[in-house]
Amino acid sequence: MKDGFRIFDGHAHMGSARHSGRRVSSDDLLRSMDANSVDRSMTIPYPVVEDYKAEHDLIGRAVLAHPDRLTGAACIYPYIPVVEFRDEVRRCRELYGFTALKLQPQYHGLNPFSSASDFLFEAALENEIAVICHTGTGVPFASPSLCMMPARKYPNLKIVLGHSGGGIHVQEAIVAALFCPNIYLELSSLMPHHVREVLNHLTSDRLMVGSDLPESAATEFGKILGMEIPHEDKRNILSTTADRVFAA
Ligand SMILES: [Zn+2]
Repeated sequence: MKDGFRIFDGHAHMGSARHSGRRVSSDDLLRSMDANSVDRSMTIPYPVVEDYKAEHDLIGRAVLAHPDRLTGAACIYPYIPVVEFRDEVRRCRELYGFTALKLQPQYHGLNPFSSASDFLFEAALENEIAVICHTGTGVPFASPSLCMMPARKYPNLKIVLGHSGGGIHVQEAIVAALFCPNIYLELSSLMPHHVREVLNHLTSDRLMVGSDLPESAATEFGKILGMEIPHEDKRNILSTTADRVFAA
């Protein structure tokens, strides 16, 4: 809780990243959560890892040890046999209660627009979990509008656009969410004036905060807490939307 608001971080990473050399342990994440008054985090593996099952197990064990504070996402390199992909999503759901599946088009090289990615969205749908899709860096596959195709094809699937297009593509993210009621925007990396623009077009029950990286947490939550917007909007952005989208 901070300033009377519960905080659900909709985008936090744990594990070891091959592409960046970053390492975040469960202790690191919990310490960062405590330091930033975060109540709960959506814990996501990095997109390029040595062993995706080991990364899921690391997050899964942390989720089971701290079910009130953590929930998890699966993140799997998509060009493995489809049956293996589906089995692993199901394993994460059944064993650890994960509530999301992450797609990182920049590092996975999978285009959400293409029907070649249907299996990924269907794996989320059959496990009744949301898809978090990174947007922004890594265009064209990371263009926010590309998620409109699966959003319209699978109207019961919730799709969260990580970073809301990352500033430069924020207007495209707004359009995607305006035309697809099952698209939600996660606001990390946007400037406060971008968040204002988002709020000019979308209701706050479609928006959530995310830290992405521990060193960004104070800034990401501070930018929402410091905005002069109605109490109800802050409450939705800081926790209520994520509570709903990532319900177990
Ligand atoms: Zn991420």
